[in-house]
Amino acid sequence: MKYIFGPVPSRRLGRSLGISPIPPKTCNFSCVYCQLGRTSNFTNTREMFYPPEELLEEAKEALKQDKEIDFITIVGDGEPTLYAGLGELIIGIKKITSIPIAVITNGALLYRKDVRTDLLKADVVLPTLDAPNQQLFKIINRPRKELDLNKIIEGMRSFKEEYTNQLWLEVMIVKDKNDNPEILTQIKKIIDKIGFDKVFINAPIRPPAEKWVEIPSLENLQNAKEILEAEDISHYEEVLIENVDKKSDSEQRIIEITQRHPLREEQVYSLFPELNKKEIDRILNKMEEKGIIYSVVYNEKIFWKISKNR
Ligand code: SF4
Repeated sequence: MKYIFGPVPSRRLGRSLGISPIPPKTCNFSCVYCQLGRTSNFTNTREMFYPPEELLEEAKEALKQDKEIDFITIVGDGEPTLYAGLGELIIGIKKITSIPIAVITNGALLYRKDVRTDLLKADVVLPTLDAPNQQLFKIINRPRKELDLNKIIEGMRSFKEEYTNQLWLEVMIVKDKNDNPEILTQIKKIIDKIGFDKVFINAPIRPPAEKWVEIPSLENLQNAKEILEAEDISHYEEVLIENVDKKSDSEQRIIEITQRHPLREEQVYSLFPELNKKEIDRILNKMEEKGIIYSVVYNEKIFWKISKNR
């Protein structure tokens, strides 16, 4: 499968089948915490990267293979609203299934009427807001220079007025950047002004783009949860991975996931319940020797990442 991945268990969306409508690491942000690394295709131009029919064909195929899916989630290897066929894709999915559709976005393009219109038919839209001012926005999210936080917040407010389904915000909490009560209180004021249906906080639990990024203390995460009146702390979450394409071989299964995010060592073991630890280690070592993946240690845990030059 080229565009579809999962299903993966998600705290917010249950068993979620992912669709990525954009080429790897195409984004208008280059967040310091991004698990995909620094943005290589740094753009703010919407493009028809792939024909919507191709994505829909694959979605149909994946839905035939797996019937127990709670959400179809449009989430790019970057920012999915940069895909000019997004509206057509959402309408097309609605025609082939009644499974609800979620779109995970950084929210930067919500100031654009065409993007808001494209998203209207989604069942849940999940934007991000990590900073209350342009200065911190630039430090954490490192947006394209033409992106202005006030304009983005205004876009989120307009979308909330037009949109009749669920709008859920995610705030990524980064140690010593936005984990202090003063900043969080300013973010909360913006949240109240927009009126999200739910707020979640998250922490950089996977290896980030920048080495200096750290997970806040549990105490600060708890404070953040209280100040923002957030639903939960995904930092606690232990997610095991499954793969929709059971036919693919072991290397391919590891590649499919590491292309999208770093894979924690224990998660690799849960991918292959039929194999013992020694056999799995052999597969990983062979892939490392071939230069397909490499390991990094982050937050005292081993993660496997895909090599850029493989
Ligand atoms: S975290 Fe999301 S918005 Fe930020 S750079 Fe990565 S893909 Fe883009």
